[in-house]
Amino acid sequence: MPMALFDRFAKLAQARADLVQGRLNPFGTRIDEIFSPTEGRIGEHRVILAGTNNYLGLTFEPACIQAAQQALEQQGTGTTGSRMANGSYGSHMALEAELADFFARRSAIVFSTGYMGNLGVIASLAGPDDIVLLDADCHASIYDACKLGGAQVIRFRHNDAADLERRMRRLGERARNALILVEGIYSMLGDQAPLREIVEIKQRLGGYLLVDEAHSVGVLGAHGRGLAEELGVEAEVDIVTGTFSKSLGAIGGFAASHHQDMDLLRYASRPYIFTASPSPSAIASVRAALQTMRDRPELRERLWSNARQLYRGLDALGYRLGPQPSPIVPVLLGSPEEGVAFWESLVERGVYVNLVPPLATPGGQALVRCSVSAAHTPEQIERIVEAFAALRAPAAKALAGA
Ligand code: PMP
Repeated sequence: MPMALFDRFAKLAQARADLVQGRLNPFGTRIDEIFSPTEGRIGEHRVILAGTNNYLGLTFEPACIQAAQQALEQQGTGTTGSRMANGSYGSHMALEAELADFFARRSAIVFSTGYMGNLGVIASLAGPDDIVLLDADCHASIYDACKLGGAQVIRFRHNDAADLERRMRRLGERARNALILVEGIYSMLGDQAPLREIVEIKQRLGGYLLVDEAHSVGVLGAHGRGLAEELGVEAEVDIVTGTFSKSLGAIGGFAASHHQDMDLLRYASRPYIFTASPSPSAIASVRAALQTMRDRPELRERLWSNARQLYRGLDALGYRLGPQPSPIVPVLLGSPEEGVAFWESLVERGVYVNLVPPLATPGGQALVRCSVSAAHTPEQIERIVEAFAALRAPAAKALAGA
């Protein structure tokens, strides 16, 4: 009875229908038009886009568009196969060399998405005989990678270096070969890993450290290399992973390392071997974006100025926010129903943010997540704050002190 396979979704569909109840559906938003990195149209509503990961606003950067167009015309629409079987294009390899140079690492590997990069690296390195220690708030790709590789998984409390240390001590000698997994900036709360403390634990107890800088490349560090650069601990990070889908404005992922055997991962990594390589146009726009990011550090300054303006504005309204100013500004709400109504009202007021379903949030709270871009103008940030101000209902006020 093949239909039975789908029966499991009935409860989910009902729960979603109960929650959305004829409102705009925050879990299946159709963005009808995109006018710029910061403006679009959802149905009849022209909206400021504050629910992207377009941190540097590079999706409309002329140099990136031009590079992509040229690649499209000269190399075609797609590679139609995996690099292992069908071969790499010169541009894949050029981007790998540029990434290695940017991160000051011996080598880098490009993957088709950031999700696959984490899967490809972590699952290949950590097999059933290995131990992985991961921050509880790590992204789904990191959890899935551990499953794919079959490693023994030990979770430590989010951003709690003392908890990591306790758990590593319990491992005794086995800690020396364990793989520690953390993120530069966490995608839900916008907070940063206590990387100095973690590095210090690693120096004392051993282990390998992988930092996923998906949300921090282009955002943190004097050159935009991420949290490890910001905190001056890059030498202690064995592997950095990340994505091209956020500050670099396209799609794809990477891993970079100074380890001499890094390149061999290609031969063991299923998400590298068994999927098509990124299209020439995506690679070309990423190369142009990387160069733009290197040439224009002022984009990072603008991003942070916008991030601080939004955080200050929402904080002054009494909303419960993440622990620190960040390009990701989560606004914690109460029930999922409140979240859906709140999200819809924001769209009606011309502001698009993400409603994060409680399942994906730490602690199971409903939250709306705003993300800020260097391309926002201060006036746009002010309009976002005004929309939140208009929704400062008594129910939300009560939560502020909770
Ligand atoms: N790691 C983290 C921390 C992420 O937040 C994401 C995407 N949200 C990814 C990896 C996956 O990146 P991609 O979109 O390129 O698959």
